[in-house]
Amino acid sequence: MPFPIGHTAIGLATFETAQSPSARGSRLAPVLFITLLANLPDLDVLAGLILQGNGAVFHRGPTHSLLFALVAGYAASHLWRLWHRIPRFGFGLCSLLVFSHVLADMFLTSAPVSLLWPLEIYWTPGQNTWGQVVDMVLYQSYQDAGIAIAAVLYVLAVRMVRAALKGHSLNIFARKSIE
Ligand SMILES: [Zn+2]
Repeated sequence: MPFPIGHTAIGLATFETAQSPSARGSRLAPVLFITLLANLPDLDVLAGLILQGNGAVFHRGPTHSLLFALVAGYAASHLWRLWHRIPRFGFGLCSLLVFSHVLADMFLTSAPVSLLWPLEIYWTPGQNTWGQVVDMVLYQSYQDAGIAIAAVLYVLAVRMVRAALKGHSLNIFARKSIE
């Protein structure tokens, strides 16, 4: 697919790339917020299940598009106004986190997304019942292990490069101040 674990791992890797390192603070709220944004497009499965008892009926439609990523990203970037515990991420970062989901679905699966909705639209064919969706999320998520491992390695690499660059610029600064 990828499953929620894979999308969350990709979202965390996206965040690590896009954030300024100084933005690091308490960990739990940002991780929960990133998890929500990186999985937001798949709420179309929940909507299909609730409204028609079929998780496939709206799947990969409008929520899997660039436009949705921009609109949802804009809304998410203002959510902190409602409750102080919600992290204050910018519009670009929020949109990027939602869009990371669309890109992951597009490149890591064979079924298309509705990237340019409303200019194009795609719906997942077939039937997905509550039981099938719960079964997939609970028992097939292990298939995302490769994505999760790749994301962890990527985040470690980004941090190492940043640390190396930081040390390098500090050295230059130190040399300048000695001169
Ligand atoms: Zn999806």
